[in-house]
Amino acid sequence: MALREILIVPDPRLKQKSAPVEGVDDELRALMDDMLETMYAAPGIGLAAIQIGVPQRVIVMDLARQEEEKAPRFLVNPQILWTSEETVPYEEGCLSVPEIFDEVERPARVRIRYLDYHGKAVEEDAEGIFAVCVQHEMDHLDGVLFIDHLSRLKREQAVKKVKKQAKAA
Ligand code: ZN
Repeated sequence: MALREILIVPDPRLKQKSAPVEGVDDELRALMDDMLETMYAAPGIGLAAIQIGVPQRVIVMDLARQEEEKAPRFLVNPQILWTSEETVPYEEGCLSVPEIFDEVERPARVRIRYLDYHGKAVEEDAEGIFAVCVQHEMDHLDGVLFIDHLSRLKREQAVKKVKKQAKAA
């Protein structure tokens, strides 16, 4: 396993649409292992492959609390089958938009389908933070960041702030 560099805004690769994966094989599992290690090291709770510059429809996440045992999830070619009418606001952040947090309103519950680490098709209902994280990460696969859901002013301020941080580092 290896740590990969996480792209941050305004890197144009983050706007790219990711392509479906052909199948889950050892090469893809190696990518997912790297993604998970990179996410844990950041630390973060979710990471899409494009965030390390790989334009493939792959997501890793782990929503376990610090005191809980690790519970990694791997979602390959995820699709949303259904979304609830009800929406909820949640304060989101993103490893590609460091130090910025803001409220985004999304469907409270979603039903998803994806291939797991072993290539098995899974259908699952998500709610709470799982639903938020799935939708946030799936946005990445279409080149959408959580700040794209904010007003233009807030988005521009966020990018400016990240650029300033990067310069100072
Ligand atoms: Zn993100």
